[in-house]
Parts: sequence; C-alpha cells; structure tokens
Amino acid sequence: MDQRYLSNLAKQLDGSLQRPGDPEYDAARKIWNAMIDRRPKLIVRCLSTNDVVRAVLFAREHDLLVSVRGGGHNVAGNAVCDDGLMIDLTLMNDVSIDTKTNSVTTGGGCTLGDIDTASHAFGLAVPAGIISETGIGGLALGGGVGWLVRKYGMTCDNLISAEVITADGEIVMASETENQDLFWGLRGGGGNFGVVANFRFRAHSIAKVIGGMVIYPRSAANDVYRFYRDFTKKAPLELTAYCACLTTPDGIPATAILACYCGDPASAESALRPLREFGSPIADTLALIPRIEMQTMFDAGFPYGNRNYWKSSFIDELTDDAIDLIVEHGNRNTSPLSALMIEYYFGGPSSEIGETDTAFAHRNAQYDLGVIGQWQDATEDADHIEWVRNTYNAIEPYSNGRIYANLIGADQMTDETQLRATFGVNYDRLVTLKQKYDPTNFFCMNQNVKP
Ligand SMILES: Cc1cc2nc3c(=O)[nH]c(=O)nc-3n(C[C@H](O)[C@H](O)[C@H](O)COP(=O)(O)OP(=O)(O)OC[C@H]3O[C@@H](n4cnc5c(N)ncnc54)[C@H](O)[C@@H]3O)c2cc1C
Repeated sequence: MDQRYLSNLAKQLDGSLQRPGDPEYDAARKIWNAMIDRRPKLIVRCLSTNDVVRAVLFAREHDLLVSVRGGGHNVAGNAVCDDGLMIDLTLMNDVSIDTKTNSVTTGGGCTLGDIDTASHAFGLAVPAGIISETGIGGLALGGGVGWLVRKYGMTCDNLISAEVITADGEIVMASETENQDLFWGLRGGGGNFGVVANFRFRAHSIAKVIGGMVIYPRSAANDVYRFYRDFTKKAPLELTAYCACLTTPDGIPATAILACYCGDPASAESALRPLREFGSPIADTLALIPRIEMQTMFDAGFPYGNRNYWKSSFIDELTDDAIDLIVEHGNRNTSPLSALMIEYYFGGPSSEIGETDTAFAHRNAQYDLGVIGQWQDATEDADHIEWVRNTYNAIEPYSNGRIYANLIGADQMTDETQLRATFGVNYDRLVTLKQKYDPTNFFCMNQNVKP
C-alpha cells in the first residue's frame, strides 16, 4: 500500500496507527486466548469516535478486511484479523456516572473491571459478566449474563442508548426513540451492525452482595448437580448460582456451586440456608462482601494468555441422565484448568421480555452448558480440543438446540445451522437489518449474519 495513504491516515488520528514492527503492534494484536495469533496489516488504536470513522472509511476505500477489538476476550478470536485492518477500541475506556438518572456511560473498549471500579464508587452496578477483563462491547452486544441477571436482567436489557459508527462511516444514535430497528439489533445481534463507540446503561444501587463458592469433592458430583437443580428452581431472583466440575488450585478434582445473592443481606440467610446445609463441603467461602470483590473473585481462573477452546449450548431440563453424563465427562477432563459449567438464568426481568422484542431470542433459557477447555502447552492442543468436542457431542442430545451468542465456539460460528440456532426466531429479521445497515457485510468478523 502506498505510504502516502498510511501517513495521511496516521496524521488524521487522535490515537495511533500501528504496523508490524511498530512499538505497540504486538501488544495490540494479542488477545486473551493464546490460540489466536493473527497479524493485521494495520491496527488503528482509536482514541475517539472520529478515529473509528476514519478507520472505517479507510478500510472501505482500500477494500480491507476489518475486525473490531473491544476487550479482546472472545474465545473465537474475532477481534483480530489476518492481513486486514483491526479497529482497536481498547483505549476508548472512559466511564462516566450520572447519579441523577442512575446511568453509566462507557467507551466501547471498556472492560467490565473499568465499569465496576467507576460505578462501585457510587454504590451502583451495571449488570454484566463475571470476569473483570471481559470487554463490555462484545458482551453487551451478544446479551450479557452475570451475577445480577435473575434480579436485574441481562446487560443488553439495561442498554439505554448506543453511539454507533455504521459500515459507511456514519455516526448514528440508537435507542428506544432513535433508529429503533438498530437498537433492537444491538441487543443480542452481536457486532453485525457497526462499531459502538459509547454505550449508556441503566445502573442499580448495589454496594454489597453475599457471594462465594461451596466446594465439594468430585465424588459427590452427581448429588451436587441434583441438589443444584432443585435449589436454583426454588431460589429467589436475588440469587444467581452456577455449578461446575473443576479442579481446585491445589489439584483436587471438585464440584463447586458458585453463588451470588444481591438482595437485602437480612433475607440472604434463609435463601442460602439449603446450600449451606447440603452435603459435606470441602470449603464454604460464602460471605458478605463488596460487590466489586465478587466481580473479580474468579479472575484468577481465567488469566490472559492460556490456550482456550470452548463450546456451549442451552439445556431446558437437567434430567438425571444429563447430570450423569456431565459428571462422567467432567471426570474425563484432560486439563486441570478446564471446567464444565452449568449456569441457571431463568426468571426475572429478562425472562419476561418477548423472544422477538430484542435480537436476543433465548428468553426462556433455563441452563447454559459451557464446556470450557483451557490449558497452557501448545503441544497438547489436540487432546484438550478432543475432550471439549467429545463432551459437547455426548451432552448435545439434552440441549434444546439453542446457543448463546457470547459463548459460541469458533467452529460453531462457521456452521450455518448453529448460527441460526444462535439467533433463533430472530434470524430472518437480523438478515433484513443487516441488508439495511451493512449490505456488503463489511463487519463480518463476528457471529456473522450474512446480508
Ligand atoms: C473468561 C471469560 C469469561 C466470560 N464470562 C462471561 C459472562 O460472565 N457473561 C457473558 O455474557 N459472557 C461471558 N463471556 C463471553 C464474552 O461475553 C464474549 O466473549 C464477548 O465477545 C467478549 O467481549 P469483548 O469485547 O471482550 O470481545 P472481543 O474479543 O474484543 O470482540 C468480540 C467481538 O465483539 C464485537 N465487538 C466488541 N466490542 C465491540 C464494539 N464496541 N462495537 C462493535 N462490536 C464490538 C466484535 O464483533 C468482535 O469481533 C466470557 C468470556 C470469557 C473468555
């Protein structure tokens, strides 16, 4: 490419243009999953909405493949492209809090940690995911579930408005009153419709929660999952709990119930009593803690730079047979860093929204199964990937055939049937929206809906 074009672009940017060999190039192209090792021709490290516009127009003019990096946490690695132009939003991480309206405005490249740190100082919380390094961009656009989901809804359900740069470089606002069709698509349709430079979310007053883990020996797993199923069905909406086959940091195969109660601490005791009285745990860490502590509690289990391969789907009923299979495959786990996670989301505001009211269709989702393959040594890739695939295939007959966009695996994403399963009844409407906002499929490195 002619150097003059590149110098011109670099001069116009508030941020910087990085090319192979430039000081920030390698750090900027590295993302959370070490299995992704791609080399964009250009990286635009944006500092402003205008930088995003310039990057989009430049890529259009020079017919470059584009990827968009928010937090860089997506396991499939869509944030980085080979040979094209990566729009890097990492530095667009400002957060501002409006205590009059209890709303939080975030840059499109914020991590959940950025948002939690700023909002916790005002006793506020935006419902989002459970690991602080995850980016708000990918998470909110795909849905967004976490410890507050059953009481306060998904992240996308708390979106008030978004500033979007479309495929032709226009800056548009999307909300209940402006570009409503786009606003519909942003709440679950992934990164298909443009780059979000800024999000504005509703926040809720929550300073402390009762949270932690109750850990049991793996030998008790069949009983623990059965207990978890019955416990979560009866639990108040303030309680969200996950159940995982995992290995403790000191190498003990275990089954753990991870729980967070976000209501009045005085009523937590009765809600949590069945859990605290069940079985013979190895450890019980449940305690009244600042919410910010809950939001970083599991970070150490998901560090930057490990190799990751995940698959996921929704399950309607945790039958005894499904549980037995989960435990059987949990026991065959090939890496102590891997886990089999069941997450229960049902009930509360998200389940009351209609399947077609937003692009996120899985409003009646009960359990999400995450088969999380994680390891460090590249020579072991084949073994751990095989464990994830075998486990997923074995449990698939119990799935309802639906998939959560944020946890869809790299090879599920390239399979048309699985992509349709990701957007469910909203797929055709998303195609129509794509035809309107991105008819050339300029934004294609995502859970891609083809125009
Ligand atoms: C360890 C771990 C824990 C997780 N926990 C949760 C959880 O608790 N709850 C949950 O719901 N999900 C969770 N996820 C899934 C997570 O939501 C998705 O991986 C999400 O894509 C991450 O967003 P990101 O911005 O970091 O992604 P990136 O990798 O940066 O980007 C992924 C895609 O998102 C799009 N994108 C990102 N930012 C923008 C933007 N500003 N504008 C337009 N498009 C954008 C692009 O299409 C991009 O290709 C977790 C993932 C991991 C790896």
